[in-house]
Amino acid sequence: MLSVIEEKVVNGRSISTEEAGWLFEEADDETLKRLAGCVRGRYHPPDQATYLIMAIINYTNVCVARCDYCSFYRFPGQPDTYLLNRQQVGAKIDALRELGGTLIGFNGGFHPDLRVSDYAELFGSVREEYGHEVEFYEMTVAEFMFVSKRTGVSYREAAEQFSASGTRWITGGGAEILDDRFRLRHSPGKYKVEDYYAAQRAILEAGMGSTATMVIGFDESLDERLSHLQRLRRFQHEVGGRLPSFLCWTYKPWNNELGGTEITSEEYLRWLAICRIYLDNFEHVRTSVLTQNEQAMHGLLYGADDFDLPTEDEVTQKAGATISHQFEALLDSARRLGFKTQLREPWAVPAGQNPAA
Ligand code: SF4
Repeated sequence: MLSVIEEKVVNGRSISTEEAGWLFEEADDETLKRLAGCVRGRYHPPDQATYLIMAIINYTNVCVARCDYCSFYRFPGQPDTYLLNRQQVGAKIDALRELGGTLIGFNGGFHPDLRVSDYAELFGSVREEYGHEVEFYEMTVAEFMFVSKRTGVSYREAAEQFSASGTRWITGGGAEILDDRFRLRHSPGKYKVEDYYAAQRAILEAGMGSTATMVIGFDESLDERLSHLQRLRRFQHEVGGRLPSFLCWTYKPWNNELGGTEITSEEYLRWLAICRIYLDNFEHVRTSVLTQNEQAMHGLLYGADDFDLPTEDEVTQKAGATISHQFEALLDSARRLGFKTQLREPWAVPAGQNPAA
Protein backbone atom coordinates (compact mmCIF):
# COMPACT_ATOMS: atom_id res chain seq x y z
CA MET A 1 0.00 0.00 0.00
CA LEU A 2 2.73 2.49 0.97
CA SER A 3 4.61 2.18 -2.30
CA VAL A 4 1.39 2.81 -4.27
CA ILE A 5 0.68 5.92 -2.18
CA GLU A 6 4.26 7.18 -2.46
CA GLU A 7 4.18 6.79 -6.21
CA LYS A 8 0.96 8.83 -6.41
CA VAL A 9 2.19 11.63 -4.15
CA VAL A 10 5.57 11.95 -5.83
CA ASN A 11 3.89 12.14 -9.24
CA GLY A 12 1.35 14.76 -8.19
CA ARG A 13 -1.70 12.51 -8.12
CA SER A 14 -4.41 12.46 -5.46
CA ILE A 15 -4.57 9.61 -2.98
CA SER A 16 -7.84 7.79 -2.34
CA THR A 17 -9.91 8.10 0.82
CA GLU A 18 -9.08 4.51 1.72
CA GLU A 19 -5.36 5.27 1.31
CA ALA A 20 -5.70 8.31 3.58
CA GLY A 21 -7.27 6.10 6.27
CA TRP A 22 -4.51 3.54 5.87
CA LEU A 23 -1.80 6.20 6.15
CA PHE A 24 -3.29 7.60 9.35
CA GLU A 25 -3.50 4.19 10.99
CA GLU A 26 -0.32 2.54 9.68
CA ALA A 27 2.32 5.02 8.52
CA ASP A 28 5.04 6.22 10.88
CA ASP A 29 5.53 9.91 11.59
CA GLU A 30 8.58 10.27 9.36
CA THR A 31 6.64 8.90 6.40
CA LEU A 32 3.73 11.26 7.05
CA LYS A 33 6.10 14.24 7.29
CA ARG A 34 7.85 13.28 4.08
CA LEU A 35 4.64 12.81 2.08
CA ALA A 36 3.02 15.95 3.51
CA GLY A 37 6.22 17.88 2.74
CA CYS A 38 6.06 16.63 -0.83
CA VAL A 39 2.53 18.06 -1.36
CA ARG A 40 3.46 21.26 0.53
CA GLY A 41 6.45 21.62 -1.79
CA ARG A 42 4.16 21.92 -4.81
CA TYR A 43 2.98 25.27 -3.47
CA HIS A 44 5.62 26.68 -1.11
CA PRO A 45 9.37 26.79 -0.51
CA PRO A 46 10.20 24.08 2.06
CA ASP A 47 11.56 26.44 4.72
CA GLN A 48 8.97 29.23 4.39
CA ALA A 49 6.20 29.78 6.95
CA THR A 50 3.83 32.73 6.76
CA TYR A 51 1.65 34.19 9.50
CA LEU A 52 -0.44 37.15 10.59
CA ILE A 53 -1.87 38.45 13.84
CA MET A 54 -5.64 38.26 14.23
CA ALA A 55 -8.51 38.48 16.70
CA ILE A 56 -11.79 36.67 16.71
CA ILE A 57 -14.51 39.01 17.91
CA ASN A 58 -17.42 37.17 19.41
CA TYR A 59 -20.11 39.80 19.07
CA THR A 60 -22.85 37.76 20.75
CA ASN A 61 -23.01 34.60 22.85
CA VAL A 62 -26.77 34.23 22.36
CA CYS A 63 -27.47 31.03 20.46
CA VAL A 64 -30.38 28.70 19.90
CA ALA A 65 -28.46 25.85 18.22
CA ARG A 66 -27.52 24.00 21.46
CA CYS A 67 -24.45 22.14 20.12
CA ASP A 68 -23.38 19.82 22.96
CA TYR A 69 -19.66 20.47 22.34
CA CYS A 70 -20.00 24.25 22.78
CA SER A 71 -18.77 26.01 25.93
CA PHE A 72 -19.58 29.48 24.71
CA TYR A 73 -23.27 29.87 24.00
CA ARG A 74 -26.04 31.06 26.28
CA PHE A 75 -29.67 30.46 25.50
CA PRO A 76 -31.82 33.60 25.04
CA GLY A 77 -32.99 34.94 28.40
CA GLN A 78 -30.09 33.55 30.45
CA PRO A 79 -28.55 36.19 32.71
CA ASP A 80 -25.04 36.35 31.20
CA THR A 81 -25.99 36.87 27.56
CA TYR A 82 -24.54 39.75 25.56
CA LEU A 83 -24.69 41.45 22.18
CA LEU A 84 -21.82 43.90 21.56
CA ASN A 85 -22.73 47.34 20.27
CA ARG A 86 -20.80 49.17 17.55
CA GLN A 87 -18.58 51.02 20.06
CA GLN A 88 -17.62 47.80 21.83
CA VAL A 89 -16.75 46.17 18.50
CA GLY A 90 -14.65 49.24 17.61
CA ALA A 91 -12.76 49.00 20.93
CA LYS A 92 -11.85 45.38 20.17
CA ILE A 93 -10.61 46.32 16.70
CA ASP A 94 -8.49 49.09 18.27
CA ALA A 95 -7.05 46.58 20.74
CA LEU A 96 -6.02 44.30 17.87
CA ARG A 97 -4.40 47.20 16.03
CA GLU A 98 -2.30 48.00 19.10
CA LEU A 99 -0.96 44.44 19.00
CA GLY A 100 -0.04 44.75 15.31
CA GLY A 101 -2.99 42.70 14.04
CA THR A 102 -4.43 42.96 10.55
CA LEU A 103 -7.35 40.52 10.51
CA ILE A 104 -10.60 40.27 12.44
CA GLY A 105 -12.84 37.22 12.28
CA PHE A 106 -16.37 37.87 13.50
CA ASN A 107 -17.98 34.85 15.09
CA GLY A 108 -21.12 34.70 17.21
CA GLY A 109 -24.02 32.49 18.15
CA PHE A 110 -27.27 31.96 16.27
CA HIS A 111 -29.01 35.03 17.68
CA PRO A 112 -32.73 34.70 16.91
CA ASP A 113 -33.38 38.47 16.78
CA LEU A 114 -30.74 39.42 14.19
CA ARG A 115 -31.48 39.68 10.49
CA VAL A 116 -29.30 39.99 7.37
CA SER A 117 -29.70 43.77 7.43
CA ASP A 118 -28.36 43.98 11.03
CA TYR A 119 -25.17 42.17 10.10
CA ALA A 120 -24.80 44.01 6.79
CA GLU A 121 -25.09 47.34 8.63
CA LEU A 122 -22.47 46.38 11.24
CA PHE A 123 -20.01 44.97 8.71
CA GLY A 124 -20.48 47.89 6.34
CA SER A 125 -19.85 50.35 9.15
CA VAL A 126 -16.65 48.72 10.45
CA ARG A 127 -15.31 48.30 6.93
CA GLU A 128 -15.88 51.96 6.27
CA GLU A 129 -13.95 52.99 9.37
CA TYR A 130 -11.21 50.33 9.51
CA GLY A 131 -11.17 48.70 6.08
CA HIS A 132 -7.99 50.47 4.96
CA GLU A 133 -5.97 48.92 7.79
CA VAL A 134 -7.74 45.70 8.78
CA GLU A 135 -9.31 42.87 6.77
CA PHE A 136 -12.50 41.27 8.03
CA TYR A 137 -13.85 37.76 7.94
CA GLU A 138 -17.38 38.97 8.47
CA MET A 139 -19.08 35.77 9.54
CA THR A 140 -18.97 32.01 9.16
CA VAL A 141 -20.96 29.87 6.75
CA ALA A 142 -22.89 28.45 9.73
CA GLU A 143 -24.03 31.91 10.90
CA PHE A 144 -24.81 32.89 7.32
CA MET A 145 -27.12 29.89 6.97
CA PHE A 146 -28.97 30.68 10.17
CA VAL A 147 -29.47 34.38 9.51
CA SER A 148 -30.61 33.71 5.95
CA LYS A 149 -33.29 31.34 7.21
CA ARG A 150 -34.27 33.67 10.05
CA THR A 151 -34.65 36.54 7.57
CA GLY A 152 -36.69 34.37 5.23
CA VAL A 153 -34.44 34.81 2.20
CA SER A 154 -32.59 32.30 0.04
CA TYR A 155 -28.83 31.84 0.40
CA ARG A 156 -28.45 33.52 -2.95
CA GLU A 157 -30.45 36.60 -1.89
CA ALA A 158 -28.61 36.85 1.43
CA ALA A 159 -25.22 36.48 -0.25
CA GLU A 160 -26.05 39.19 -2.75
CA GLN A 161 -27.16 41.50 0.05
CA PHE A 162 -23.96 40.92 2.01
CA SER A 163 -21.83 41.36 -1.07
CA ALA A 164 -23.60 44.61 -1.95
CA SER A 165 -22.94 45.96 1.56
CA GLY A 166 -19.19 45.40 1.13
CA THR A 167 -18.73 42.01 2.78
CA ARG A 168 -15.71 40.26 1.32
CA TRP A 169 -15.36 37.06 3.30
CA ILE A 170 -17.77 34.58 4.82
CA THR A 171 -15.43 31.87 6.01
CA GLY A 172 -15.91 28.16 6.41
CA GLY A 173 -16.15 28.21 10.21
CA GLY A 174 -18.72 26.29 12.20
CA ALA A 175 -17.88 23.20 10.16
CA GLU A 176 -16.44 20.96 12.91
CA ILE A 177 -16.96 17.52 11.32
CA LEU A 178 -18.97 17.75 8.11
CA ASP A 179 -20.66 14.40 8.32
CA ASP A 180 -24.37 14.00 9.02
CA ARG A 181 -23.85 11.17 11.54
CA PHE A 182 -21.70 13.50 13.63
CA ARG A 183 -24.11 16.40 13.16
CA LEU A 184 -27.07 14.31 14.29
CA ARG A 185 -25.27 13.20 17.46
CA HIS A 186 -24.03 16.59 18.57
CA SER A 187 -25.66 19.42 16.72
CA PRO A 188 -28.92 18.39 15.10
CA GLY A 189 -30.27 21.95 15.03
CA LYS A 190 -27.35 23.47 13.16
CA TYR A 191 -27.46 22.20 9.56
CA LYS A 192 -27.11 19.19 7.26
CA VAL A 193 -23.90 18.81 5.27
CA GLU A 194 -25.39 19.31 1.81
CA ASP A 195 -27.12 22.44 3.06
CA TYR A 196 -23.76 23.76 4.33
CA TYR A 197 -22.19 23.38 0.91
CA ALA A 198 -25.23 24.92 -0.81
CA ALA A 199 -24.72 28.00 1.37
CA GLN A 200 -20.98 28.13 0.74
CA ARG A 201 -21.57 27.80 -3.00
CA ALA A 202 -24.00 30.77 -2.90
CA ILE A 203 -21.35 32.82 -1.07
CA LEU A 204 -18.77 32.10 -3.76
CA GLU A 205 -21.26 32.74 -6.55
CA ALA A 206 -21.93 36.18 -5.11
CA GLY A 207 -18.22 36.95 -5.52
CA MET A 208 -17.17 36.73 -1.87
CA GLY A 209 -14.35 34.62 -0.51
CA SER A 210 -14.57 31.64 1.80
CA THR A 211 -12.25 29.10 3.44
CA ALA A 212 -12.36 25.54 4.75
CA THR A 213 -12.03 24.36 8.35
CA MET A 214 -12.26 21.22 10.42
CA VAL A 215 -12.21 20.48 14.15
CA ILE A 216 -11.14 17.08 15.44
CA GLY A 217 -11.03 15.38 18.81
CA PHE A 218 -14.71 15.07 19.80
CA ASP A 219 -15.83 11.45 19.53
CA GLU A 220 -15.80 11.30 15.74
CA SER A 221 -14.77 8.10 14.00
CA LEU A 222 -12.01 7.93 11.43
CA ASP A 223 -14.70 7.25 8.86
CA GLU A 224 -16.45 10.52 9.78
CA ARG A 225 -13.20 12.46 9.53
CA LEU A 226 -12.47 10.95 6.15
CA SER A 227 -15.95 11.73 4.89
CA HIS A 228 -15.32 15.39 5.83
CA LEU A 229 -12.16 15.43 3.74
CA GLN A 230 -13.72 13.53 0.85
CA ARG A 231 -16.66 15.91 0.44
CA LEU A 232 -14.42 18.94 0.93
CA ARG A 233 -11.91 17.94 -1.75
CA ARG A 234 -14.78 17.32 -4.15
CA PHE A 235 -16.34 20.70 -3.38
CA GLN A 236 -13.01 22.45 -3.88
CA HIS A 237 -12.74 20.75 -7.25
CA GLU A 238 -16.32 21.73 -8.18
CA VAL A 239 -15.68 25.41 -7.40
CA GLY A 240 -12.41 25.55 -9.30
CA GLY A 241 -10.13 25.85 -6.27
CA ARG A 242 -11.79 28.99 -4.94
CA LEU A 243 -11.07 28.17 -1.26
CA PRO A 244 -7.53 29.41 -0.59
CA SER A 245 -6.96 27.67 2.71
CA PHE A 246 -7.83 24.83 5.03
CA LEU A 247 -7.43 25.12 8.81
CA CYS A 248 -7.74 22.23 11.26
CA TRP A 249 -7.89 22.73 15.00
CA THR A 250 -8.75 20.62 18.04
CA TYR A 251 -11.78 20.40 20.30
CA LYS A 252 -11.32 21.59 23.88
CA PRO A 253 -13.46 19.54 26.25
CA TRP A 254 -14.01 21.89 29.20
CA ASN A 255 -17.21 23.61 30.38
CA ASN A 256 -19.64 21.99 28.00
CA GLU A 257 -22.16 19.18 27.91
CA LEU A 258 -20.11 16.75 25.81
CA GLY A 259 -16.90 16.90 27.86
CA GLY A 260 -14.37 14.14 27.14
CA THR A 261 -10.58 14.10 26.95
CA GLU A 262 -8.42 16.29 24.74
CA ILE A 263 -6.57 14.44 21.98
CA THR A 264 -2.78 14.55 22.00
CA SER A 265 -0.73 16.94 19.90
CA GLU A 266 0.82 13.89 18.27
CA GLU A 267 -2.57 12.83 16.95
CA TYR A 268 -3.30 16.37 15.77
CA LEU A 269 -0.03 16.53 13.85
CA ARG A 270 -0.57 13.15 12.22
CA TRP A 271 -4.04 14.21 11.13
CA LEU A 272 -2.73 17.51 9.83
CA ALA A 273 -0.33 15.57 7.61
CA ILE A 274 -3.20 13.46 6.29
CA CYS A 275 -5.12 16.66 5.49
CA ARG A 276 -2.13 18.10 3.61
CA ILE A 277 -1.60 14.93 1.61
CA TYR A 278 -5.28 14.33 0.81
CA LEU A 279 -6.37 17.94 0.19
CA ASP A 280 -3.90 18.41 -2.61
CA ASN A 281 -6.15 20.96 -4.35
CA PHE A 282 -5.69 23.46 -1.50
CA GLU A 283 -2.81 25.93 -1.68
CA HIS A 284 -2.61 26.60 2.05
CA VAL A 285 -2.93 24.28 5.02
CA ARG A 286 -2.87 26.17 8.32
CA THR A 287 -1.81 24.98 11.76
CA SER A 288 -3.70 26.06 14.89
CA VAL A 289 -1.78 28.11 17.45
CA LEU A 290 -5.12 28.87 19.12
CA THR A 291 -5.62 25.28 20.27
CA GLN A 292 -2.07 23.85 20.11
CA ASN A 293 0.05 26.82 21.24
CA GLU A 294 3.76 26.22 20.64
CA GLN A 295 3.10 22.65 19.52
CA ALA A 296 1.31 24.10 16.49
CA MET A 297 4.68 25.07 15.03
CA HIS A 298 5.50 21.39 14.59
CA GLY A 299 2.55 21.40 12.19
CA LEU A 300 4.92 23.12 9.74
CA LEU A 301 6.88 19.86 9.64
CA TYR A 302 3.64 17.96 8.96
CA GLY A 303 2.64 19.92 5.86
CA ALA A 304 1.22 23.21 7.16
CA ASP A 305 2.61 26.41 5.66
CA ASP A 306 0.74 29.18 7.45
CA PHE A 307 -0.71 30.13 10.84
CA ASP A 308 -2.17 33.02 12.74
CA LEU A 309 -1.14 34.39 16.10
CA PRO A 310 -4.47 34.90 17.87
CA THR A 311 -5.06 37.72 20.32
CA GLU A 312 -8.50 36.66 21.55
CA ASP A 313 -11.30 34.16 20.94
CA GLU A 314 -13.83 33.69 23.70
CA VAL A 315 -15.31 30.56 22.11
CA THR A 316 -12.18 28.45 22.50
CA GLN A 317 -10.95 30.24 25.62
CA LYS A 318 -14.19 29.30 27.41
CA ALA A 319 -13.53 25.70 26.37
CA GLY A 320 -10.01 25.72 27.81
CA ALA A 321 -7.74 27.30 25.18
CA THR A 322 -5.00 29.64 26.39
CA ILE A 323 -3.75 32.58 24.34
CA SER A 324 -0.30 34.11 24.63
CA HIS A 325 0.68 37.54 23.31
CA GLN A 326 4.37 36.57 23.49
CA PHE A 327 4.49 36.43 19.70
CA GLU A 328 8.27 36.43 19.40
CA ALA A 329 8.55 33.35 21.60
CA LEU A 330 6.07 31.53 19.37
CA LEU A 331 7.87 32.64 16.22
CA ASP A 332 11.20 31.58 17.71
CA SER A 333 9.94 28.06 18.14
CA ALA A 334 9.11 27.95 14.40
CA ARG A 335 12.56 29.32 13.59
CA ARG A 336 14.23 26.71 15.79
CA LEU A 337 12.51 24.08 13.65
CA GLY A 338 14.22 25.56 10.59
CA PHE A 339 11.54 27.85 9.17
CA LYS A 340 11.88 31.43 8.01
CA THR A 341 8.81 33.14 9.41
CA GLN A 342 7.33 35.84 7.25
CA LEU A 343 4.58 38.25 8.30
CA ARG A 344 2.04 38.41 5.48
CA GLU A 345 -0.85 40.60 4.45
CA PRO A 346 -4.36 39.15 4.68
CA TRP A 347 -5.11 37.29 1.50
CA ALA A 348 -7.19 38.93 -1.23
CA VAL A 349 -10.41 37.21 -2.30
CA PRO A 350 -9.36 34.81 -5.07
CA ALA A 351 -10.63 35.97 -8.43
CA GLY A 352 -11.26 32.55 -9.95
CA GLN A 353 -14.09 31.37 -12.06
CA ASN A 354 -17.62 31.85 -10.76
CA PRO A 355 -18.69 28.35 -9.69
CA ALA A 356 -22.13 29.03 -11.16
CA ALA A 357 -20.62 29.52 -14.60
S1 SF4 B 1 -21.01 26.08 18.31
FE1 SF4 B 1 -21.93 27.96 17.45
S2 SF4 B 1 -23.93 27.29 16.75
FE2 SF4 B 1 -23.25 25.70 18.18
S3 SF4 B 1 -24.08 26.35 20.19
FE3 SF4 B 1 -22.00 27.21 20.03
S4 SF4 B 1 -22.30 29.28 19.26
FE4 SF4 B 1 -24.19 28.10 18.83
